[in-house]
Amino acid sequence: MSSGKVDGESLVAGVVPPVVTTRSGEGEAGNGDVSRRDFLQAGALLGAAIVAPGCATASGTALRPTNTSERSVPPYDVVIVGGGPGGLAAALTLGRSRKRVLLCDSGSRRNAAAEHIHNFVTRDGTSPEEFRRIGRGQLAAYPSVNVQEVRVVSVSGARDAFQIGLTSGTAQSRRVLLCTGMIDERLPIEGFDELWGHAIFQCPYCHGWEVQDRRWGYLVSASDAQMLLPFALQARGWTREVVVFTSGTFDVPAETRARLRAAGISVETDPVRRFISRERHLEAVELSTGAIVPCDVVFTHPAQRQVELVRSLGLTLDEHGYVRTDATRSETSIPGVYAAGDLTTRMQGAIWAAAAGARAGAMINVDLAMDLASGRLGEIAQPAGPGVSAPLTNVPSPDR
Ligand SMILES: Cc1cc2nc3c(=O)[nH]c(=O)nc-3n(C[C@H](O)[C@H](O)[C@H](O)COP(=O)(O)OP(=O)(O)OC[C@H]3O[C@@H](n4cnc5c(N)ncnc54)[C@H](O)[C@@H]3O)c2cc1C
Repeated sequence: MSSGKVDGESLVAGVVPPVVTTRSGEGEAGNGDVSRRDFLQAGALLGAAIVAPGCATASGTALRPTNTSERSVPPYDVVIVGGGPGGLAAALTLGRSRKRVLLCDSGSRRNAAAEHIHNFVTRDGTSPEEFRRIGRGQLAAYPSVNVQEVRVVSVSGARDAFQIGLTSGTAQSRRVLLCTGMIDERLPIEGFDELWGHAIFQCPYCHGWEVQDRRWGYLVSASDAQMLLPFALQARGWTREVVVFTSGTFDVPAETRARLRAAGISVETDPVRRFISRERHLEAVELSTGAIVPCDVVFTHPAQRQVELVRSLGLTLDEHGYVRTDATRSETSIPGVYAAGDLTTRMQGAIWAAAAGARAGAMINVDLAMDLASGRLGEIAQPAGPGVSAPLTNVPSPDR
């Protein structure tokens, strides 16, 4: 956060330092009809297919050309990349809108280390595996939604005619929705890996209740300096015992120290050497001086990075490395490519990602509907109703 301003997102986010180079330049604005502009409350329209800037293959290799038989297969309306809460919710919205959807999900989940998802109404305490199982099970009711355990390795082409490179096959799609989440960097401190998601957390709303009234540590880095006071004071709502660890990465102003002291919060400035634990239970934090600070749980916000596919696309990012999207439409700087969930924001949580996915799905549906007035009706796939299979090129059959 370069401004030094603490916003609502910063207080609850599981994120922080900018880790990816910011790129400038918004996507191209098209021209189009007035009703659509009114509906979307946005001046930029998604007009004629424009070759997406920087829309390259992740591997650097060209996509296999589309052969004649594939061309006869109608494209997907939307390929969703990522099947976490964001992607699942988007697929549900689009499936219920009778759109042909390919949901591709592969790789580890962001919350893989966590045993339960909390703070998601109706799903509080559900395991991440169960959450996905339920989500995919509900999608099975919508025959136009095809869920695949497959990784998307490239996206090329342009709005209305994207080529999606998969680890097994290719697909064509009119729109792309990125719900790829973020990758948390591991802190190079002994004991961090085994405790992450068990005694080291990023979000008190997700895990604070379970460790209320325990001894909390807050490990804060220089890039989070402006979060120190509000986050530490916030932590006091869950416990009286809060220790801040700065590892000497920045100076804590005297006024901040005084306010922390007034709230009963102590500050340790020596570097953290290791986390002392037994069977994934944190017992203490050891400092470089050899001092041992008893602690049951530590909150911290490791740096994050985008997944390789997103990095390869050349999308405009914000100053923190998150994909910049139009606030109303969820569209990125590349026309026809949308994004929702953790990859777009510091405000990270399963229910927020799901809400963003549902909204992006609805906005994509509106965008697709606007094509009906483009005079290209013959080129546009008809809605998929009950019993209509999703179009496949050489993508494997749904596994569900
Ligand atoms: C330890 C931990 C515990 C947490 N606990 C909670 C909690 O209790 N409550 C809560 O609300 N939030 C919690 N969170 C945050 C929550 O997990 C995220 O906010 C949420 O999962 C974000 O959803 P998403 O759909 O944006 O991304 P994700 O859930 O990260 O899903 C993205 C998916 O996309 C896949 N993917 C990425 N690239 C590709 C590709 N190229 N091709 C195909 N698939 C791809 C990934 O493998 C992944 O499955 C926790 C986070 C962590 C780190």
